[in-house]
Amino acid sequence: MMEILKLEVGDRIVAFSTMRGNVSQLDAPNPYSGFNVCHYTGDDATHISQCRSELAKLTEVAVDRLLIPRQTHSVNVVIIGEEIPDLEEVDGMVTSRDDVALVVNTADCLPIVFNDSKHGIVGVAHGGWRGLYGGIIESTVTAMTVLGAELQEIRVAIGPCICGDCYEVDEDFARRFEERMGDCVIEVGEREKPHVDLRRAAVDCLGRIGIAKSKINVVEECSRCDERFFSARRMGVESGRIATVVKKVGKV
Ligand SMILES: [Zn+2]
Repeated sequence: MMEILKLEVGDRIVAFSTMRGNVSQLDAPNPYSGFNVCHYTGDDATHISQCRSELAKLTEVAVDRLLIPRQTHSVNVVIIGEEIPDLEEVDGMVTSRDDVALVVNTADCLPIVFNDSKHGIVGVAHGGWRGLYGGIIESTVTAMTVLGAELQEIRVAIGPCICGDCYEVDEDFARRFEERMGDCVIEVGEREKPHVDLRRAAVDCLGRIGIAKSKINVVEECSRCDERFFSARRMGVESGRIATVVKKVGKV
């Protein structure tokens, strides 16, 4: 049975992040061991399709209604309307459909879930430093408003990702990132290098576009600290991914 971490993001939505599974039973040297649906980081196709079947069952959609883009740290967000668009180089999706499950894959980057339950519009985005810096949050919220969402109705959840303690960066990067994203650098202190708190950067960014902290739920789990999750920093880039899944429940 797959293990999941539920994300609290209001009503009429199912939202969760997948975990690798029972850690004591995982095959330690295999960086894909555990639950993985990501098709472009080197895992075996059979394993991926087994996991996808399981995920489709859990979310009660057909396997071909699991929408899993090839992410490239872009700020490209697509609206899933009647047609399902091409999902190459896509890092965010929004929809008002209730027969699709939107999925982003991450390993240390931020999976961000959006929900306007009043208007029945949901979204999900992959936000690493590049995406945050480029404006993936703004693009996703804009796409939701195009569908009819209202800013003051949007709730957000940030799933398991790298914590500030684990995210060590170069000095130049820290300064550049801070200049754009605001105060999210944890000062060096005892450390050799600065650390960046990407969660704080995302929450502040949401605040700037009008989504208050009280509407945002940030889970505490760190993908790098917590072995129940895949982590690119801990396991290498060629490894499985945490799937964060969003499905709207019921018609509005
Ligand atoms: Zn950590």
